[in-house]
Amino acid sequence: MAFASLRDLVAAGGVAVLTGAGISTGSGIPDYRGPNGSLRRHTPMTYQQFTGDAESRRRYWARSHVGWRHVALARPNPGHHAVAALEAAGLVDGVITQNVDGLHSAAGSRRVIDLHGSLARVRCRGCGVLSDRADLDRRLRLSNPGFDTRAVEGPPLGAEVNPDGDATLAEAEIDGFAVVGCVDCDGDLEPDVVFFGATVPPARLTAAVDLLARSRALLVLGSSLAVMSGYRFVLRAGELGIPVGIVNQGPTRGDARAAFTLDAQLSTVLPRLATELAGAAAR
Ligand SMILES: [Zn+2]
Repeated sequence: MAFASLRDLVAAGGVAVLTGAGISTGSGIPDYRGPNGSLRRHTPMTYQQFTGDAESRRRYWARSHVGWRHVALARPNPGHHAVAALEAAGLVDGVITQNVDGLHSAAGSRRVIDLHGSLARVRCRGCGVLSDRADLDRRLRLSNPGFDTRAVEGPPLGAEVNPDGDATLAEAEIDGFAVVGCVDCDGDLEPDVVFFGATVPPARLTAAVDLLARSRALLVLGSSLAVMSGYRFVLRAGELGIPVGIVNQGPTRGDARAAFTLDAQLSTVLPRLATELAGAAAR
């Protein structure tokens, strides 16, 4: 019955999609709050901690040096591909994602707002230049020839890695890690992501709110909506009189405000939806 509600909502078109970590678990990236959520193991570093002292940055980059490659090696799953197919069929207007893994774009979605940034980029805190994380990875490898990244390079992975590419490491491993600076100015580097508990850049938030305001419906996929950066779109949809559908494994903060909720595996239910709707639209 709930699937029919989902199908009807999307079939009418004009859908803004909001995704969270739940859509990427099918790609081997653990979520924060699911049954095996990484928040149960440790809390991600805050931006205040990161900018506070060099030791915290060393800790961040050492853990990220291990965890990033896990996210970088992940591939889109059938859920991501289904969302891209629904956009290609003219039913989805755009995707607002809380994920920093780049998998929606990798699956072929064109209008993607990376609300929390992207792990694929690094920004210099000195001169502001953006660079490719893969370049930084090569430099970090050269500066840390004995550093063991093998722990998470072979499948099955995931248990020690956060969706933001933060891996759990022993203190001794972190102590010996050599951080590198900006190629241009030797300034401190930071990932181009919104840290846990930090705020989304205003222009990006405006773009996301504008997408929602132009939409006929909001479909939440794989987010418990525990943080305001995602939940605010459910609240805004309510203000705009836009219906909200939620597909997630487990309850969400937005359930009481939703037209329907569907507790289902996204990598199963979304391909079925795309086959029924995008297949039909393509004919
Ligand atoms: Zn610089």
